[in-house]
Amino acid sequence: MTYRGRFAPSPTGPLHFGSLVAATGSYLQARKARGLWLVRIEDLDPPRTVSGSADLILRTLEEFGFAWDETVIYQSSRTESYQQALQQLIDHHLSYPCSCTRSELQALQNNELEDHEELRYPGLCRNGPLRTTGSHAWRFRVPTEPVCFTDGLQGEQCIHLRDSTGDFVIRRRDGWFAYQLAVVVDDAAQGITEVVRGVDLLSNTPRQIALQIALGLPTPDYLHLPLATDRTGQKLGKSTAATPVNSLNAVGTLWNVLQFLRQNPPDELQHATLNTLWQWAIEHWQPDVLKNIRQLEYVA
Ligand code: GLU
Repeated sequence: MTYRGRFAPSPTGPLHFGSLVAATGSYLQARKARGLWLVRIEDLDPPRTVSGSADLILRTLEEFGFAWDETVIYQSSRTESYQQALQQLIDHHLSYPCSCTRSELQALQNNELEDHEELRYPGLCRNGPLRTTGSHAWRFRVPTEPVCFTDGLQGEQCIHLRDSTGDFVIRRRDGWFAYQLAVVVDDAAQGITEVVRGVDLLSNTPRQIALQIALGLPTPDYLHLPLATDRTGQKLGKSTAATPVNSLNAVGTLWNVLQFLRQNPPDELQHATLNTLWQWAIEHWQPDVLKNIRQLEYVA
């Protein structure tokens, strides 16, 4: 089977170091396997989408010498497929409407949430929505058994979704489909055989595998790369306003990414052509040196 990998940025701003690491890791993994590498723009959440940033991300990827196979998919054009998947779950009694608001649930627990994170849902609407009027979300009825998988770098993972997120949202109250459902439908539609991304998304994987099983879709392999942090251990990323990557010095920046990924690129390649650096990186790509590493400090 041909290896099919992907990079799936959300167009919420320009590409930053953390997303360049995910792009590079997934690209090297695909090219080393002589497989295909696809790009999917996750513009699923219009309130968070920054106009122009999808084009900017694609242009930056080109400037860094990434070459994607097949046409770029935009999640904003995939609503019908998400609706079909939701209907399939509803038909199998695996999804139910929920009238609880985020603030009602937040009041029950007192946590700050990261991107893609949710509170554990205590199942208030499991047997029917508490309120039948007004808008409602759709939740996925999580399995009682644990979800287990072996991550390519982070090893054995086993999670009881009942205890972590509980029945999670797959279509939001505002009508938009949730990341968890969209990513599963799209990874299957694009025939992705391995997902390579940052370890900040590791905790989402059991939810995605549970949805794949419920929808009868194949489960790809997963490999979660260490997260780039600053000196204080804070994630570098859009939320911490990390600076956009500098494509004027694409070779130097890519060299830094390879160094961050512990590939030890030779010093002289800092001044090579992009093509030469990519050739070296593909030939020498060795993700195993990152085994069990969840975060690495990046000193710009
Ligand atoms: N769009 C997600 C993000 O930029 C990544 C999704 C994924 O790789 O599964 O955080």
